[in-house]
Amino acid sequence: MSTNWKSRTTAVHGGSRRSQYGEMAEAIFLTQGFAYDSAEQAEARFIKAGDDEFIYARYGNPTTRMFEERIAAIEGTEDAFATASGMAAVNGALTSMLRAGDHVVSSRALFGSCLYILEEVLTRFGVKVTFVDGGDLDQWRAAVTPGTKAVFFETMANPTLDLIDIAAVADIAHAQGALVIADNVFATPVFSQAVALGADVVVYSATKHIDGQGRALGGVVCGSRDYIRKVLEPYMKHTGGSMSPFNAWIMLNGMATLDLRCRAMADTALKVATALSSHPKLSRVIYPGLSSHPQHSLAMRQMGTGGTLVSFEIAEGKEAAFRFMNALTIAKISNNLGDAKSIATHPATTTHQRLSPEQKARLGISPGLIRFSVGLEDADDLIADLTQALEKA
Ligand SMILES: *Cc1c(COP(=O)(O)O)cnc(C)c1O
Repeated sequence: MSTNWKSRTTAVHGGSRRSQYGEMAEAIFLTQGFAYDSAEQAEARFIKAGDDEFIYARYGNPTTRMFEERIAAIEGTEDAFATASGMAAVNGALTSMLRAGDHVVSSRALFGSCLYILEEVLTRFGVKVTFVDGGDLDQWRAAVTPGTKAVFFETMANPTLDLIDIAAVADIAHAQGALVIADNVFATPVFSQAVALGADVVVYSATKHIDGQGRALGGVVCGSRDYIRKVLEPYMKHTGGSMSPFNAWIMLNGMATLDLRCRAMADTALKVATALSSHPKLSRVIYPGLSSHPQHSLAMRQMGTGGTLVSFEIAEGKEAAFRFMNALTIAKISNNLGDAKSIATHPATTTHQRLSPEQKARLGISPGLIRFSVGLEDADDLIADLTQALEKA
């Protein structure tokens, strides 16, 4: 594999392995294990497996390995480990490196399950966690101390699309020797510059844009070879969170069109946000690609786009938001994102239902807030659908 390929070439060919048959499409190695030529070979492989030698699918598999190499090449990290879901990736990235007494600083605006890992799981095992408002660098400066092992944040938060200034937070973390772990789902591997900006470990839910067609769960952790193979892999392979070869094959196929899909979705997202921006039924339209967004210049610097999601607030609240959702004819009511099909989500009653009213208010999750994941449909059709549904709101 060439290291000077641009990412679109890498997304099609990166990490490819071919069997003796020279198959064009990536093969699915649906095998749990691998037969050895001799007892001596088995012994040698358990001592140290070579690059193209496998032992057991929980430890690694040729199809899964193709996906890992392809995504690492795109993200710009030395290595990657594929996981059963995005949450297996987030949990593995944190839990594999932490022990009782360690300190982690995290932004407060997190996907519900990420919050659960930090608030419930890690603290139960004696890890101290400090939450900060991710946009306030003074809070990061005050919270990160010489004893801090890691900082964690979503580079663009769900569902309010607040951005973290990766370079600034990474500077603060690195000055105290802390590892920077970024959940980068909303930025997508296409628009991500997380590694160049200072993230040490980048985590994706592959369920989202990487599959991009709502078919399978998956996740991946990208980082240095030492972190991936010496810290994360032992934890993942012994605790069972590895990706299945079949799902790796789905993700590999997703990657071939990832760049085209994400760019098309982001172009449409800008059109949708622009069309909605002065709608009388909306009290707020949140899209970092709009020049009126307070973090517009950060979004352009960090991603070169506003991304593939648009959030907006229906002024009249929950009942009006429900009337709007029920009137949609193209977009589906669901809670995935990054899918070819546009999806409307009501975070307050679904993805963020668990939060207290105070937590919701603090994160800007109001009763009228809709998270809209822009799909691959025609922009004019989507805007017409949203507009007619807003009339019924
Ligand atoms: C979806 C998501 C996850 C979890 O991914 P799964 O594949 O559903 O386990 C984690 N972080 C963010 C930001 C997400 O959007």
